[in-house]
Amino acid sequence: ADTTTNSNTMVTVNEIVQFIDHAGEIVKEKDNDQKKTFLSHLSDKSDFLTKGFDYSVISILGPQSSGKSTLLNLLFNTKFAVMEGKKGRSQTTQGVWMGVASIDSSETYLILDVEGTDGRERGEDEKAFERKTSLFSLVLSSVLIINMWAHDIGRYTASNMSLLKNVFELNLQLFQKKKTHKTLILFVIRDNDDATPMFELQKTVLEDIDKLWREISKPQEFLDTNATQFFDFDFFSLPHKNIQPTQFLEQASVLKGRFLDNSHSNFIPKKIYRNEDVPADGLYQYSNNVWETIKSNRDLDLPTQKEMLALYRCDEFVEQTFTQFTTDLKSIRERIEKGKIIDDFGQLGKKLIDAALDRYDQPAQRYHQDTVAKKRQTLRERLFSELKKLFEKQIEKLFDRSIEFYNSLVQETTNVKPSTPTSSSSSSANSDQKKVDNSQIIPQFTIWAKNMKQKSIEYFEKTAASSIVEGSEWEYSEYSSNLDERITKEIQTLRENQINKLSKLMKDMTIQQLNPHLIKITERANENMWEDIRSIYKKSLENIEGEYLIRLKDFDVKENEIEEIIGKFKESIRSLLKSKMVERAEFLPMKLRKRFEENFNMDSRKLPRKWTKSDDISSVFRDARNNSEKLIDLFSFLRLDDGDNDVEYFKHTANDDHEENLSLIDQTDKIIISYKDCSTLCENFRRDIKSDYNQACSEQSRLSASTGLSPTL
Ligand code: GDP
Ligand code: MG
Repeated sequence: ADTTTNSNTMVTVNEIVQFIDHAGEIVKEKDNDQKKTFLSHLSDKSDFLTKGFDYSVISILGPQSSGKSTLLNLLFNTKFAVMEGKKGRSQTTQGVWMGVASIDSSETYLILDVEGTDGRERGEDEKAFERKTSLFSLVLSSVLIINMWAHDIGRYTASNMSLLKNVFELNLQLFQKKKTHKTLILFVIRDNDDATPMFELQKTVLEDIDKLWREISKPQEFLDTNATQFFDFDFFSLPHKNIQPTQFLEQASVLKGRFLDNSHSNFIPKKIYRNEDVPADGLYQYSNNVWETIKSNRDLDLPTQKEMLALYRCDEFVEQTFTQFTTDLKSIRERIEKGKIIDDFGQLGKKLIDAALDRYDQPAQRYHQDTVAKKRQTLRERLFSELKKLFEKQIEKLFDRSIEFYNSLVQETTNVKPSTPTSSSSSSANSDQKKVDNSQIIPQFTIWAKNMKQKSIEYFEKTAASSIVEGSEWEYSEYSSNLDERITKEIQTLRENQINKLSKLMKDMTIQQLNPHLIKITERANENMWEDIRSIYKKSLENIEGEYLIRLKDFDVKENEIEEIIGKFKESIRSLLKSKMVERAEFLPMKLRKRFEENFNMDSRKLPRKWTKSDDISSVFRDARNNSEKLIDLFSFLRLDDGDNDVEYFKHTANDDHEENLSLIDQTDKIIISYKDCSTLCENFRRDIKSDYNQACSEQSRLSASTGLSPTL
């Protein structure tokens, strides 16, 4: 009558669950595992799973159709199937059923109802099954109700006594296997017609128990024991359900009353009878393990069972905790993946780990301590290693960020665009150099750089240190040293750029100083030209070198490096000066012409010459020409070194007009105009002044036509 119509009717009948089927198998559903059904049933009912140790298991044993299910339903408001009429028991109802009491009690009850086949039909298999279900009930229950007919009492009948005998023997086995607590056996005497007083019945049962105890085979260690060392006994009788229905219900209600108030002295399932170390949330797994062990006739060792339970449950708690932990990490992970640095990573991580361990400890605390501790350790390690992945990402980001920070400091000072932290190769260094050249030179570079490095490393170290989660063995020293190395390298590149920039500045300054003088001196182009050039060249070099040396000190340049830098600097000034001279030499044809005119076409008073008869035009012409041609030699050879002053590079002679001066061939870096060009220049000059000469001659001959004197060259 109580079967529901949902699809799970095979195993769930209203609020009860079939735990073991008629074949002795733990019931599994096809699509839905039994555990889920069972647990959801248990947790739906009065928060069973959260009860910790605050629950009792009650089971009932006794002959078939003796009203066991009827009684349980009355006492605990369960919905176990009651067999009406002689329909017989269908296989689907046989086995062990469980249900949670729904009565208004201070106690939470899990009720076990065992359905067997009818006594008269029992074969050996059925006997074995009964023995197993009895052991199962004994292991789980604090109270074992034994249902017996009043008229069976004193008959020492096979059915009653064999049941008790089983229970006694099995219990002794359990005590051998470390069972520690007594079980209460509550005899409920059915169909008591009050013909025999209750105390008489009770006395008879106790006498039978004594007799039975003496008869059973006991292990050596328990030979001299008494049944009351392992059991407490209690008695209750009920009138016939059909003959005295009102009284029956009244008495059932009285019995029920003894399950309601755990502060009352006649409260039946006292704490001392309970399994103290199987918490409610582990009961399903424990029942499973116990039944599988019993079914396969293996030794049922209770501590081992409890350890197994702890292992299993702790594994579950570990998984649940870990899953929750990874969910909790999600927001941190997302932030880090977006490139954010989490300043209080260490604290945050610690909080999450503590919370996770706490979440584990809550349910785990009730289980076998060693196991809980071991599993806690593995959980802890997993939590830390999961968090470490994020820590490492954070440190990587922090590393990049520290380089960015350094670059921003550099940029602040120099307006240099920093290289991106990820690219480190020479290509970016080259492009940087260009930019550095356009920016200013950093004063007191060495001190400045030390400062910047320190700031950047401090930034890294501070955040990295606060990213360490207390209790971990994480470290980041490798990153620290990499960062140090990296910034040192960056500073080195920057320093080189800065020194290059300084040298360019010095060069520019020198040329700026030299140039006006150089123009004046070359304009004059007198015999002391090179002496003058050397003098201003030396003076400028001295001046600038002095400043250069002072400014190089900012860069902490070593002695030999200074020599090299200054050497290069001098070299570059020299070649710059040479190129300036090349520029000046371009005006040479004009200069030659101008000087020639000054000497040939002007007289000593700088007035236009009037040729007279007495003038030796040829000699004047030769002097003027030679005078001009000296300029070619003057401008064609660089005479910056003292010893070069007397060098004569170009001299026009009639027969070696295009041969270069062989002795000077190896001093090409001093040659401003090649010998060949000098010759060409000279030839052109001579061609150019020929007409001047001719004109002078014709002027003179006009004056003295009669003399017929003809000039010779
Ligand atoms: P179970 O097999 O021990 O669980 O017995 P049931 O609870 O299914 O009851 C079997 C039959 O016995 C049903 O017809 C009940 O109405 C009847 N019954 C229940 N309680 C009593 C009782 O106290 N005395 C008698 N004589 N019959 C009872
Ligand atoms: Mg029943």
